[in-house]
Amino acid sequence: MRIVVLTGGIGGARFLLGVRAYAREVGAEVTAVVNVGDDLRLHGLRVCPDLDSVMYTLGGGADPERGWGRVDESWTIKNELAAYGAEPSWFGLGDRDIATHLVRTTMLDAGYPLHQVIEALATRWQPGVRLLPATDDRLETHAVVSATSELASPAATNNADAADLDGGRRAIHFQEWWVRHRAQLPTHQFVFVGAETAKPAPGVTEAIGAADVVLIAPSNPVVSIAPILAVPGLREALTDGPAPVVGVSPIIGGAPVRGMADRCLAVLNVECSAAGVGGLYGSRAGGGLLDGWLVAEEDAQTVVPEVTVRAVPLRMTDEAATAAMVRAAVELT
Ligand code: GDP
Ligand code: CA
Repeated sequence: MRIVVLTGGIGGARFLLGVRAYAREVGAEVTAVVNVGDDLRLHGLRVCPDLDSVMYTLGGGADPERGWGRVDESWTIKNELAAYGAEPSWFGLGDRDIATHLVRTTMLDAGYPLHQVIEALATRWQPGVRLLPATDDRLETHAVVSATSELASPAATNNADAADLDGGRRAIHFQEWWVRHRAQLPTHQFVFVGAETAKPAPGVTEAIGAADVVLIAPSNPVVSIAPILAVPGLREALTDGPAPVVGVSPIIGGAPVRGMADRCLAVLNVECSAAGVGGLYGSRAGGGLLDGWLVAEEDAQTVVPEVTVRAVPLRMTDEAATAAMVRAAVELT
């Protein structure tokens, strides 16, 4: 059996631990298609937060408490940068983590495409799952916000891309919106910069075309899954492909299990509920994505037109519980 998973960072990485466990049980091959919309350049280094969360988690090198970055991390470089007053100071890179970004940036600068860089990094981490970026091309999630005085000038944030737009609006990088402003700014929309010309990374549409089932991890639908689907050709590979598509709800009982997905859904005027997110993805029959939608037992009443909905325990407390979720998702089709 071949399983493809669309995934963001921390929530998706936890889910993939369960997918890997399930796959080992039944002898399946797993390909993870990972969001790159969060990627950014910091202090000259290319940082891929979601790919690294997945790689470190599956490779046993993630910090279990923080959820992101490396275990046993130290912060000497961060403190030294702060002593220089080097911006941006709101995004912390740990010393161990920086080694990953150095290797990646060197390879990218030498001309290797991102998917080959990830493959090279994965030879160290042995994630047991094939990791593919959604695209090798630049695709960045930006938030369009009201240009209030809370916003520093683009120069002060070292964000040359922060664009002043008409009507007193400004587009800022997703990480600045999320990490620096804690998703608290008045926000009009998200845009995926570069999406129009991005191509799926080599292997992505092939993996989807050869899959027996495609799972959408319980990742943030707005800023983890939507940027993947924004790559031209990728959504079509799913909707026109032979494999059933089953999503897993990141929302339980009307709230995200962790993080600020509610803030993101509010920007789209989508109700923060299993039904709201299911409706956002939509049914394959109705031009959307889903054949099946797995929700928590608390949300057993959820209805998404033309989608098979099933309720099971949906908290990823440990690998076995998560593998049971994955089994339910696969068996839903
Ligand atoms: P990020 O890229 O690091 O923000 O991570 P993701 O987008 O992959 O995942 C974030 C989402 O995971 C959040 O919206 C959470 O609601 C969801 N999540 C976290 N833990 C759980 C869990 O135990 N069960 C479910 N169903 N969702 C979870
Ligand atoms: Ca992310």
